[in-house]
Amino acid sequence: MPGSRREFVIGMGAVGAFTLFSSDLFSIDRTEPELILYNGSFWTVNARQPRAQAVAISGGRFLAIGSNDEVLALAAGNAKKIDLGGKTVLPGFIDAHSHPAEAGLSHLRMVDCDLRSIADILKALRERASKTPAGEWVLGFKYDDTKTSEGRPLTRAELDAAVADHPVFVQHRGGHTAWVNSPAIRLAKIDDHTPDPAGGKYDRDPATGHLTGHVRETGRETFDKIIPSNFTRDDHREGVRLISQMMTRSGITSVTDAMGNPEDLRAYQDAREAGQLKMRVYCHIYQAFMDQMLAAGVKTGLGDDWVKVGAQKMICDGSISERTARLSQAYIGRPDDFGILVTPEEELYQQARKAHAAGWQLATHANGDVGIDITLRVYERLQKEMPRTDARYRLEHCTVVNDSLVARIKALGAIPTPFSTYAYYHGEKMKEYGADRVNHMFALRSFIDAGIRPTQASDYPPGPFEPMMALQSEVTRTDAKGNVWGPQQRITLEEAIRVGTMHGAYASFEENLKGSIEPGKLADLVVLGRDVFKEDPYNIINIPIERTMVGGRWVWES
Ligand SMILES: [Zn+2]
Repeated sequence: MPGSRREFVIGMGAVGAFTLFSSDLFSIDRTEPELILYNGSFWTVNARQPRAQAVAISGGRFLAIGSNDEVLALAAGNAKKIDLGGKTVLPGFIDAHSHPAEAGLSHLRMVDCDLRSIADILKALRERASKTPAGEWVLGFKYDDTKTSEGRPLTRAELDAAVADHPVFVQHRGGHTAWVNSPAIRLAKIDDHTPDPAGGKYDRDPATGHLTGHVRETGRETFDKIIPSNFTRDDHREGVRLISQMMTRSGITSVTDAMGNPEDLRAYQDAREAGQLKMRVYCHIYQAFMDQMLAAGVKTGLGDDWVKVGAQKMICDGSISERTARLSQAYIGRPDDFGILVTPEEELYQQARKAHAAGWQLATHANGDVGIDITLRVYERLQKEMPRTDARYRLEHCTVVNDSLVARIKALGAIPTPFSTYAYYHGEKMKEYGADRVNHMFALRSFIDAGIRPTQASDYPPGPFEPMMALQSEVTRTDAKGNVWGPQQRITLEEAIRVGTMHGAYASFEENLKGSIEPGKLADLVVLGRDVFKEDPYNIINIPIERTMVGGRWVWES
């Protein structure tokens, strides 16, 4: 039976059925465990054996799962045994939509402005400037104008006062807008009399007409074009090393890069070869880079357990955190603003068709209900013209839904990847969507009730990636100030854990490989400092991550 699996029950322990995995692919010596983790409280996300005390690991995979006695009895001479001291263990988390390679480069080169006061941000920029040769750019990212204690945005004058002899560019967390100082404005060769660029804005003080230093959309791109980007191949690898270290510390063991390009794919491989890639990567490829991929015969699934080619990525509409998603009903307080459609339907169809015909999974950024409707129409048309069993069409974000969209998603077998941390982290931005609409956003309850498999997804940098924040956000739908956003969409903790593990594996066709603690699956897991099932749901975010394991090796130990 080549490649078949046989599972057999050896005994019944206090924690339920004990199963040992065996396969013709494994040699006999592989059935002797290399490592045993015991005296733990394992939540396996395997319905047939939800809880266990111990696991045996061999060849980077789970070999056996059961009670302490049962698993310890397997210990051969060399098996290393680790006492987990009763700690809670979950399968490793899968972040099904984020931007790790790009974020890694930003962390290498830019000041992390995710700070709670403008004073702290200016101090961090000043420190970076003191170590930067005069005249060179000082760059910041992850600044959020709604999150500083001053309750107002940065100003050009204070940026000038903090850093006078370097151009400064501080980008918003969402990525579509930025704040710049006077040297930057001079280098960009714009002044108070320069007209706004098409599709963007250089903000001006209404009283004086002077540029404020806040630049948006294509106005921001003016600066992108003059900031030298001179990353080497080694920098790209280093960025991946850094971000994989950051993400695994939070309990993430797999990610989907939602907007990869050939350089990113190479960076993941380089980091992996250098022994520096700590998490597994499913790398979507943005449609603009697809010609070379198609010419080489590359398609979804090429690669291995560590680096794998994902879906073709397309973009239908705008963003939630910067309030440009394409909606059927206008934004609250802006009766004429329905958001932005980035790619017209026919163009989206043409992009999708090429990749679908070549055997690729499809993934389309669609946030607003109008964007989701268009994307579903494209998928439905393709499925009619070139039917594929188990296509697993992905709706990246899939934020604002209604009953008929949910029914179509179910009928198509499509997969939504809603923002997991937004109700908690971006609560203050939800006002512009209104309470009614927020009850239909990040709609995990609706998806699960309809039998759809939504994933955990941070979209980092725009959203924080910590899985404990995702769980708290999904279970409570409450922000850090106590405001509740869309209580109808609350799910249980058990459901939220499944969303963050098994569903993520399914979204990348890897449900037989990971997403639960089961014999034969990859030994990816996270050890929590406190029991999440006993924690106050409003305090889950503070549970420390003690250890993270990927493929039977600790990649993080506190
Ligand atoms: Zn994204």
